[in-house]
Order: sequence, then structure tokens, then C-alpha cells
Amino acid sequence: MRWIIALVAILGLVAGGAYAFRGDIALALMERVLDRNMASDGIDVLPDGLHIGLCGAGAPMPAADRGGPCVIVIAGKRMIIVDSGTGGVRTLARMGFQAGQIERVLLTHFHSDHIDGLGEMMLQRWVAGGQSDPMPVHGPAGVERVVAGFNDAYALDQGYRVAHHGAETVPPAGFGGVAQPFALDGGEAVVIDDGGLKITAFAVEHAPIEPAVGYRVTYKGRTAVISGDTKASAAVEKAAAGADVLVHEALSPALVGMIGSAAKKAGRDKLTKIMADILDYHTTPEEAAEIAARAKVKRLLLYHIVPPLPVSALEGPFLGRARELFSGPLSVGRDGDLVSMPAGSTEVSLANRL
Ligand SMILES: [Zn+2]
Ligand SMILES: [Zn+2]
Repeated sequence: MRWIIALVAILGLVAGGAYAFRGDIALALMERVLDRNMASDGIDVLPDGLHIGLCGAGAPMPAADRGGPCVIVIAGKRMIIVDSGTGGVRTLARMGFQAGQIERVLLTHFHSDHIDGLGEMMLQRWVAGGQSDPMPVHGPAGVERVVAGFNDAYALDQGYRVAHHGAETVPPAGFGGVAQPFALDGGEAVVIDDGGLKITAFAVEHAPIEPAVGYRVTYKGRTAVISGDTKASAAVEKAAAGADVLVHEALSPALVGMIGSAAKKAGRDKLTKIMADILDYHTTPEEAAEIAARAKVKRLLLYHIVPPLPVSALEGPFLGRARELFSGPLSVGRDGDLVSMPAGSTEVSLANRL
């Protein structure tokens, strides 16, 4: 008994000492983390291959653990972002990657939740990342207007940054973005095809939003498909045939229906109508699972999670019967998720970097 009291006393002293010096301990840790992060771009430690990350797993509704839609594509040493939802570039940095590494952004469509982090992403890439060329932003027709608008909104800030840091540190030419519109031919457009990386846009079904696309990415024999926003679509199934990972949007009608009912009870008629409207242009988790099964993909990662799931116990009700419909690994995406597909292997592993 006495030794237990002594042990508790010692532990108490250690804990008390650690508590008293918590500021110094935190500073020492911060110094180590800064040294490590500054010396790495996050890509250099990954094996050669295709890696797909979630810099935002959510949608327009506010969620503590899921930002706006944002997908990281790492192919070898290249980093390309698909959609730039709120908080995307911040989550990218928290995942250990650097904004200056962003080669380009591909947009699926121009719903606000897919573009509202674009200004910050371009700014971070330029100022923190030291880029001297504007960020290429690819998308269907309309991307010119979106990019021009962000460039205009940030024009005053460009002047402030250059005036304060100097043109050598923040080259004015690196400011903003440059639109790279593509036209769909037969419902498809090859957006990138160089250095062993091929990214093809394909039309999806998100009416009345047209065009809206998903992307198929192949690199060194590994394949990922990102659905973008769509209702259950044969186009996604076709693009995903045999893919290593399908990153598919998902909305639970049952849970959205609960929000609609609560809105109706509270007399919020417009919100009630919006909750009913959004059901017709998204995909349920069960439909996504069926698509993944028919396409014979190796892994299904759901993103663009609607509605927010503030506790993980809601994942079961959100998924419904999805796990019965797709026998492979299936997960409800979270910010920080990274699916790794090393070249020359069949591995498709998932880790979270936050
Ligand atoms: Zn969306
Ligand atoms: Zn949308």
C-alpha cells in the first residue's frame, strides 16, 4: 500500500513539474515541429505513386471536422488540387504539405462550396509558397469568370504584399490565377497528359448545373476517380471501372430529411424547401456503394459529406446499407485522409495526417 502512495506522489510531482513547465515544453516541441515542417514539402517522404488526400471532406453546411470540398492529387512529385472549398489550403498545410507545391487546380463546377477557398489558396501559393507564376485553374466554360473575379477581389491585397515585402520576395507576376477552360468533347476532355500523368474530365449529372465534371486520374498504373457533385451516374461508374479508389460524394436523404423536418417545425419555410431540393442532384451512400461494387473499385472513400456528422456514431445511420452493398474497404472521409497507391504495387492504404 505504501509503495502505491509513493508512486502516486512521484507521478503527482512529475505531472506537477510538467504542468509548471508546460510553456517551455510546448516551445521546445514547437521548435522541433517547425524545423521538421520547414525542411519538408510533405511529398518528399511519400513513395512514388498516386496519393489522394482530402483537404476538405465536407460540403456547404458548417462542420467542425470537415471543410469545404477539396481533394489533393499527388502523382510522383506533382501536386494538383481538385476543388478549393473553404479552409482547403489551411488543411493542406496541417497535413504537412506546402501551398507553394500546388502545381494547378482543377474545378469540377462552380457551386460556391467548391470555389470559395480559391482566393486564399492562390494567395498562399504566391506569398507563402514563393511562386512567380499565377496558379493555373482548369475548369469547364465559366472558369474564366470565376478566376477573374478572385483576381479582382485580391488586387488591392497584391499591392499591399508587394509594397511591404518587395517584388523580389513576392514577385508580382506570381499573383492570382490564370483560367484554363476546357471544352468537353463527347462528354470528356483530357486536361493533363504529360510526365506519365493523365487526368481526364468527364461530364456528370448535377442539373441544373452544367457542365459539371468528375476527374479520372492515372499515374504509373494506379487509378483514382473523383466524382465531383453528381446524382448517381453511369458516367462515374464507367470512369471508375477497375479503379484503385473511387472518391465519391454522398448525401443521406434520411438525415437531410431530419433537418428539413426541424426547419419546418420552426417555421423556416425556405430552408425546408432547400433541404427538399438538394435531394435530387446528389448521390446516397448506398448508391455510391452500388456504383463502387459494379465498377469493381478496390476502395470507396466518401466525401462531400451531407449533412455534417458531429458525432462519429452518426456514420452508421449515414451509411445505411452501404457496407452490405460494397464488400471492399469503405470509409466516410475526414479532413486529412490520405489514400496511398504506390507504383508497382496493388496496395491501397488509408491514413489520416491530422
Ligand atoms: Zn458541392
Ligand atoms: Zn454542386
